[in-house]
Amino acid sequence: MKALLCSKGMVKLADVPMPVLGLDEVLIRVKLAGICNTDNQILAGYRDFNGILGHEFVGIVESDPQGELTGKRVVGSITIACGNCWHCRRDQTSHCLNRITVGINNRDGVFAEYVTMPRRNVHIVPDSISDREAVLTEPLAAGMRVAEQVHILPTDRVVILGDGKMGLLAALVLRAMGNDITVVGKHEDKLSIATGMGLKTAKVGEMSGPVDVVVECTGSVTGLDTAINLVRAGGTIVLKTTTVDTYQIDLSPIVVREITLVGSRCGPFEPAVALMERHNVDLSDLVEAVYPLDQGVEALKHARRKGARKVLISIE
Ligand SMILES: [Zn+2]
Ligand SMILES: [Zn+2]
Repeated sequence: MKALLCSKGMVKLADVPMPVLGLDEVLIRVKLAGICNTDNQILAGYRDFNGILGHEFVGIVESDPQGELTGKRVVGSITIACGNCWHCRRDQTSHCLNRITVGINNRDGVFAEYVTMPRRNVHIVPDSISDREAVLTEPLAAGMRVAEQVHILPTDRVVILGDGKMGLLAALVLRAMGNDITVVGKHEDKLSIATGMGLKTAKVGEMSGPVDVVVECTGSVTGLDTAINLVRAGGTIVLKTTTVDTYQIDLSPIVVREITLVGSRCGPFEPAVALMERHNVDLSDLVEAVYPLDQGVEALKHARRKGARKVLISIE
């Protein structure tokens, strides 16, 4: 089968053997995959990964040895947990000490014609959700994670810092959950997408007054500094950025102003799917381009462009 193979930070289209089903796994024919910043971060050296890249997808179960999932349209959560370690026994499977992550760590990803997944990682997609929406389940779930971690009151002022994809998705999720959201960013054109989605926006430096919660989605090490300047004393910063760059930052305001700093990563799939099923989030403006798998290398290049929205890879 065809796949986008990553080796030593380089990526190329390659012919690779079909994946072999492991115990309690299903074989999925990938329909549509999404390029995430993490994919390009891996190519930039964020993680030493050799294998098929990609972790955001929607596909059809081609074969399920137990039968019940065969033919179903599904998405899949990316962390494969051992089920036995300290965290797994406490239901914190995303922090499994022996975790494997699809397309990121020790396991082939989804930029391929087929992928295998453990049955427990697979979620059926209701018919009312389009492929273009379903492929965004994973980043949407990452936005959902914020609501799991921080108790946000309807009276709280919440700033989403960063007008990129992660910022927009987090803003859409938190607004759908009834919160008062303002997207704060640097780019007029990207902020206008947020405005088009009916979100309140402001340029960095123009936001005033106490901000109770800042969700930092800038993708840059400088975002935390801006977040510290925005948040009120006693407020909360949720840090979403993962980057290869190193932070050089004065942490004393966090101590002096008693700011709570929360790291936040992957989120739950089921509520993300439920949110899409109720059409509480409109994701149609997020996708910028769709490339066939054959042009996957170009697609990754496109996704690296400054200010690019979501780039998808169609595999049909
Ligand atoms: Zn992702
Ligand atoms: Zn574990």
